[in-house]
Amino acid sequence: MADWNTRTKLVHAGTRRSQYGEMSEAIFLTQGFVYDSAEQAEARFIESGPDEFIYARYGNPTVRMFEERIAAIEGTEDAFATASGMAAVNGALTSLLKAGDHVVAARALFGSCLYVLELLSRFGVEVTLVDGTDLDQWRAAMRDGTTAVFLESVSNPTLEVIDVKGVAAIAHEKGAIVIVDNVFATPTFSKAVSLGADVVVYSATKHIDGSGRCLGGVICGTKQYIRKVVEPYLKHTGAAMSPFNAWVMLKGLETLDLRVRAQAATALALAEALEGHAKLDRVVYPGLPAHPQHSIAMEQMGAGGTVVTLEIAGGQEGAFRFLNALEIVRISNNLGDAKSIITHPATTTHQRLPAEQKAELGITPGLVRLSLGIEDQGDLIGDVMQALDAV
Ligand SMILES: *Cc1c(COP(=O)(O)O)cnc(C)c1O
Repeated sequence: MADWNTRTKLVHAGTRRSQYGEMSEAIFLTQGFVYDSAEQAEARFIESGPDEFIYARYGNPTVRMFEERIAAIEGTEDAFATASGMAAVNGALTSLLKAGDHVVAARALFGSCLYVLELLSRFGVEVTLVDGTDLDQWRAAMRDGTTAVFLESVSNPTLEVIDVKGVAAIAHEKGAIVIVDNVFATPTFSKAVSLGADVVVYSATKHIDGSGRCLGGVICGTKQYIRKVVEPYLKHTGAAMSPFNAWVMLKGLETLDLRVRAQAATALALAEALEGHAKLDRVVYPGLPAHPQHSIAMEQMGAGGTVVTLEIAGGQEGAFRFLNALEIVRISNNLGDAKSIITHPATTTHQRLPAEQKAELGITPGLVRLSLGIEDQGDLIGDVMQALDAV
């Protein structure tokens, strides 16, 4: 399997077949497992073998298939699946940190990721936020004994691209662990591990499901970190992925590469068509040469991703007119879905942030985040153009 290419791994890696030889992965919708004897139960609680399970909060065969498949494509030794992307972010950080530890994080983060960092600081972890695009700020914030750095490789919703290789070099010099939330990069375009990430976290809710059905998340890392640090924390605190959701995610992985490449191609075509449009103050897309981190995006992803962020002229009023005039693109807050989705972050996903923090992060009243789906490219560009006419 090691020399299979990604498309092959996405379809076959991690498959476990029962005695029936089913073609499609089975859903093992069971929370418990039966032991042949009391001695076997005792032995399994001391140490479980690779095909031995105890309780679905600890692990389950369908969930294990998902974990092994994502680890195979991400290039990590192991992975642990969680109930949601936030359970993965929280699990990756909280399992590792204790009072007195120091974390450096990029300030441009998804609202709930910022909340987890606030929570950690309540328990005595010191958190320093930096402008993630400025390597000098990372360097200045690091101390001897900094435990971890945390960043979104492409930030939600402003699409700042962080130089993962540069940050990892700075962090590793101090012995800090590099934890990357890689949702916007997607597993398709991720090279995070080869760039120096030690831990890669996904919300599987987004591109991995890809059809907006289930919540899920996953933490990818070394065997030591996943089994000795993350697993004890997650198996005793309970944010396990359900076997049904793991099955949905497995099926999502099969088509992930096809969908994400089509979505990124549409995102690029749309961004190119919109550059310089009279109703737009700004088109933000890492695949455009005008993007401030375009060369980093190309080097570390080879593409601009599936999301385009636009600044509509006329502030919130202009943005709302644009949203309300769209006919194919739906107003919602997921992303990575087969359906195109538009979000107004300032009044929804980032509503909680104080005005100064929104301004600092560039979440202006006119900003909208457009996640491109797999609909026909011409239809989508047409829909966006006709809605801009309404602004
Ligand atoms: C959506 C998202 C999350 C959280 O994932 P859930 O599955 O909704 O819990 C975390 N990080 C980023 C960058 C996201 O976009």
